[in-house]
Amino acid sequence: MAEGFCELLRRAVAVEPDRVFARTSEASLTLAALDAGSDALAQALRARGLARGDRVAAVLPNALDSLVLAYAMAKAGLVWVPLNPALVGDGLRHILALTQPRLIVAEGHASLDELFAEAPASRFDEAPPEPAEDFAICTTSGTTGPPKGVRVSHRMLRLAGEGVMRVADARDGDVFFMWEPLHHIGGAQMLVAPLLKRVVLHLVPRFSASAFWGQVIAAGATHIHYLGGILQILLKQDPAPQERAHRVRIAWGGGCPAELWPQVQARFGVTLRECYGMTEASSFSSFNADGVPGSVGRAMPWFELSIQDAEGRVLPPGARGEIVVHAREPLALTQGYLDNPEATARALRDGALHTGDSGSLDAAGNLFFHGRMTDSVRVRGENVSAWEVEAVAAQHPAVADCAMIGVAAEIGEQEIKLFLQPREGAVLDLAEVSAWLTPRLARYQRPRYLAVVPSFPRTPSQRIQKFALPRGVEGCFD
Ligand code: ATP
Ligand code: MG
Repeated sequence: MAEGFCELLRRAVAVEPDRVFARTSEASLTLAALDAGSDALAQALRARGLARGDRVAAVLPNALDSLVLAYAMAKAGLVWVPLNPALVGDGLRHILALTQPRLIVAEGHASLDELFAEAPASRFDEAPPEPAEDFAICTTSGTTGPPKGVRVSHRMLRLAGEGVMRVADARDGDVFFMWEPLHHIGGAQMLVAPLLKRVVLHLVPRFSASAFWGQVIAAGATHIHYLGGILQILLKQDPAPQERAHRVRIAWGGGCPAELWPQVQARFGVTLRECYGMTEASSFSSFNADGVPGSVGRAMPWFELSIQDAEGRVLPPGARGEIVVHAREPLALTQGYLDNPEATARALRDGALHTGDSGSLDAAGNLFFHGRMTDSVRVRGENVSAWEVEAVAAQHPAVADCAMIGVAAEIGEQEIKLFLQPREGAVLDLAEVSAWLTPRLARYQRPRYLAVVPSFPRTPSQRIQKFALPRGVEGCFD
């Protein structure tokens, strides 16, 4: 089996100690500094009594020291539990109860400065962990309910990094612009990237639509990453010269409706690479390298994809069913959810991950994503996928973003309720929106209720938290 990423760091630092691994607008972190800093922190953590397999929560911003801490834990065989620093109250309590860390490293708490102060400057010389050992507990986005803790092994993170390299078509000298929080798998997977090619991570604290292109240009970025509604938000901004003045080659990510791809590529001058992935499958399971319209592409070499019906029968090309990800290599998939054997048994069966997502494959193995199995609404005997309705409504010029849910019907099954967030400065006339939708949707797909919201409750990866949307129909346009 290939080397783990701790060994990769040792090897890279011996050859090119001064190469920059990551940077922000203010500072940079060389391979030598990452290696020495993580050696020091690993010893400080040991000195606090932490043993292999212990969990340590990192409640830290996207910063260079956060990367050093992650590597310190990797070297010491501690399990990195990156948490969103914006969490408070019940959200934070849920994750802490779930992950039960022995130590919490947070700004102003057991701070990194304190740990650095306790750390000796010598080399940390314990043997690195085995590939199957847990490197991290990454929490899912919490789109469908409370976040789950996904066990990510050392090998799985290494493969996640390899996946990024393929999606990015990475070359030496590339710069990856990283707004994505480290606690999301989309951020965590970047940890290994600069050890596989001479690429640099450029970290910014968070996504900002208004600052985006300016930051991307200042970073000299060749790659940007999108999730949730990010590209839609950027498209809804007024065009500015900056959005063409960058050197970005590839925008990769998931969640940009196929209808918008030509617009994104033409307006921003980037190649779009839509991927399909999830925390449980080392981030990306497939990506669209060939520009197949509407597809999330073909499987990574370490995965195979199938489409199955509810009884687990494999369906032929073209048929819709549940997307199942099969591991062709040991440890490409998670070994399970933390302390949740029921959810693990449901998701992992016969070495394959049952994703709960709906999709189909064409004869060439290109995957098409049709939304979550549970995110559809049963209307008068028809299954309406929220994904499909939202993709249409999002194209309305005054709509910034939208979300569809099912609400109880007076008779029969459910009715569709569509929430709309107006574009900045725009006013939504719901009668007009309704008339605009009518010729664009099949009769059974048309929303019964429309409601305007100023903004959506979102996960840190910018997904809309549908479970937090009101199910009532009072005050809706009907
Ligand atoms: P939770 O499991 O807590 O409800 P989550 O599933 O949103 O949260 P993630 O692991 O971050 O957490 O996201 C994986 C999910 O994202 C997939 O199961 C799928 O539903 C969705 N997804 C993946 N790829 C795409 C894509 N290209 N377009 C749209 N959605 C996608
Ligand atoms: Mg999920």
